[in-house]
This record gives sequence, C-alpha cells and structure tokens, in this order.
Amino acid sequence: MAELDLNAGPAAAPANLAGATRAELRATFADAFGLDEKKARMRANQLFRWIYHFGVTEFDAMTDIAKEMRGELSARFALRRLNMVERQVSSDGTRKYLLELSPGVEVECVFIPDVGRAGALCVSSQVGCTLNCTFCHTGTQALVRNLTAAEIVGQVLAVKDDLEEWPTAGPVDERDRRLSNIVFMGMGEPLYNLDNVAKAMEVISDGEGISLSRRRITVSTSGVVPQMAPLGERTSAMLAISLHATNDDLRDELVPINRKYPLDELLDACRNYPGVSNARRITFEYVMLKGVNDTDAEARDLVRLLKGIPAKINLIPWNPWPGAPYECSSWERIEAFADIVNRAGYASPIRTPRGRDIAAACGQLKSDSVKKRASEVRREAAGV
Ligand code: SAH
Ligand code: SF4
Repeated sequence: MAELDLNAGPAAAPANLAGATRAELRATFADAFGLDEKKARMRANQLFRWIYHFGVTEFDAMTDIAKEMRGELSARFALRRLNMVERQVSSDGTRKYLLELSPGVEVECVFIPDVGRAGALCVSSQVGCTLNCTFCHTGTQALVRNLTAAEIVGQVLAVKDDLEEWPTAGPVDERDRRLSNIVFMGMGEPLYNLDNVAKAMEVISDGEGISLSRRRITVSTSGVVPQMAPLGERTSAMLAISLHATNDDLRDELVPINRKYPLDELLDACRNYPGVSNARRITFEYVMLKGVNDTDAEARDLVRLLKGIPAKINLIPWNPWPGAPYECSSWERIEAFADIVNRAGYASPIRTPRGRDIAAACGQLKSDSVKKRASEVRREAAGV
C-alpha cells in the first residue's frame, strides 16, 4: 500500500496544519499567500503559538490575525485532530487511546499519571514494528508504516485535549501540568524513524508551544547502534536502552537486533552517547522473565556490564499478552534481583506495571485491539 500522508488527507479535505513545524508553517504562508520571508515568519510564529500553546482548532479563534486572513486560512487549511477511535481508562488512572491516522491505520498511545514530574505520555513512532522481540506484543504485528512527524505530534495534541490541559490565557504554570514527560516507548522502533521523531521533538519542545523540555523526552531503542549518536546530536533526547539480557546468546534470542549490533557495540555507543553524564544518565530497561533472565548471577552480570556508564536501571515486570511464550518472574525473584542492583548503588529500579487491566502496559500495545471488547482484553490479559 502506498504511504498515506496525514497532511494530504482525503482528496476533498483541506490540508491539516496541526502537527506542522515552524518551517512548514512559514513555507505554507509563503506559498499559499505569497508573503515575503519576514511576513511569512511573523505569521508562522503567530500560528505556532495558537496551535501549540493554546491548542486552538479553529482559525477564527486567532484574534491577532486579521479577520480576512482567518477566513482565507479556514477556507484552505484545517487544524484537525487525529480521530479518537477508542479511549479506555484503567482503574489506576492510566488512559489508553486508539487513534486513527488514516483510514484503517491506527496507533495506540498511553498516558500514565504520576510518572516523571507529573505524568508521562507514551507515544508510538511506527504502526507495528520490523523487529521481533520475542516477549513483545507489538513485535508480532508487521510494520505497516512509519508515523509522520505530524502524527507523532498529533498524539500529544489529542491527549492534551483529553486532559483539558490547554491554557486559556497567559503562560503555563508549570505546577499545573499533568503531562510533563514524553517517552517514545509505544509501538515501533523510534530509531528506524529518526527524521520524524526529531522533527516531532522540535515541535513538542519549542518553548512557545507545548514546551516540554528535551530533558523530559526519552527515546527508547532496542539497540539500533548507528542511529544512537545521530539521535543525541540532533535531539538531545534522554536515551533508554531495551537491554533485557546480559550476554549475547540470550539477547540474540530475546532482542534479535542484537545479532546485528551485539552488546559490546551497543554499550560502546552508550558510553559515547552525546551529552551522557551523571546528570543525564541512560536508562537501561530490563524485563523480568521467569526462568529466562532473572537469576542472581544475571543481576550481578548486569551491574558489571554497566560499570562506568552513567546509568539508571529499570526493572520491568513482564506484561502478559495472549499466546506469549513467557511468564513474569515472581515478585520475590524480582525483589531479590532488585536487591543486588540496589546494593550496587542503583535506586528504586522496579517499574510498577500500569494499566494492565486495559492492556496498556509496556509491550501490550497492538492496534487490532479495536476489534476486541475491553472485557475480552482483560480476560485474556488475566490468562483466563
Ligand atoms: N521499540 C523500542 C520502544 C518501544 S518498546 C524498544 O524496544 O525500546 C518499550 C519498552 O517495553 C521496551 O523496553 C520493550 O522491551 C518493553 N516491552 C516490550 N514488551 C514488553 C512486555 N510484554 N512487558 C514488559 N515490557 C515490554
Ligand atoms: Fe519492536 Fe521495541 Fe517491541 Fe522489540 S520491544 S518488537 S523493538 S516495539
């Protein structure tokens, strides 16, 4: 199937400017209205603020733009949101959204309250994934396509709408923020879509718009080594590595990209990640799989492996999905493993599973969930 472009939309729909970068807005004004560079920039800056600071979806609300120009904008462009196909709220407050990018192409994102400074939004970068990590549900779904930058930003816009987080006037009071962090830990491998991830980050982190600091944006990778330095150089994103194993044999099996970029290359790329320091540590994610990677010896290996790298360790209880060939390690095992890691100086590393009842937890995302009733998903997740 040809790649579908959100901005193009169906033939009759006007081009969508929600999700556009400053440069794209500038080009739009220059092309559509024949404005010179300076005027186009000024208009683009005005629009940018309305779209991303105030979250408006009507050009008519842009009161500092002349009425005539607003009319022209409305006639030729739109500020559409991604269509929300489904919205589920977990008993722990986690919200999972199924958003339609283009007809039949859907993606999930998850808002998790009380994570990061206030709440974290886990966004997707691809529909499906080309990699096949054996413990991950998304890995069972073939890649449909990369998201555009506008579609990545579109997830943030849709969730800010749902959280009613747009200011009515004046600057944002940081204390009121509910959405304070973004993690690229949804569907897909962000480093296989770096151009769009970088472009989306440019919009999301812009101080005159959504204004989330790049230090509060984390990109998780399964280990696409050649793209790690470019990620750091281009985006200054915080880095997370899906490690999950401490030796190549096991990692080859669990995270097959390891066959291409083995552990020593991966850890070297971490040591050289631009800007890495004790104040900007790399997060190492380690999913706890019963009888697979959860012995005391492996906890010690983990500590040894990460020696000298400014690191945080995140132990993730494995989240079940239908048909998966794994079980989550017992709580006692996870605690014993965590103890060893803690004693080596890494603080509170166990990630509490969130939103498991709505299949919103790490690695449970798969966009065909629209076809299932919530009760069915819950039954399956509970293994009954
Ligand atoms: N593709 C990227 C980002 C998305 S996955 C990556 O692999 O890093 C986000 C995190 O969830 C990764 O650490 C991934 O390994 C982990 N994960 C995948 N399936 C999981 C599951 N069933 N339970 C717990 N964590 C899982
Ligand atoms: Fe893809 Fe990440 Fe899942 Fe691996 S863990 S299959 S890289 S989404």
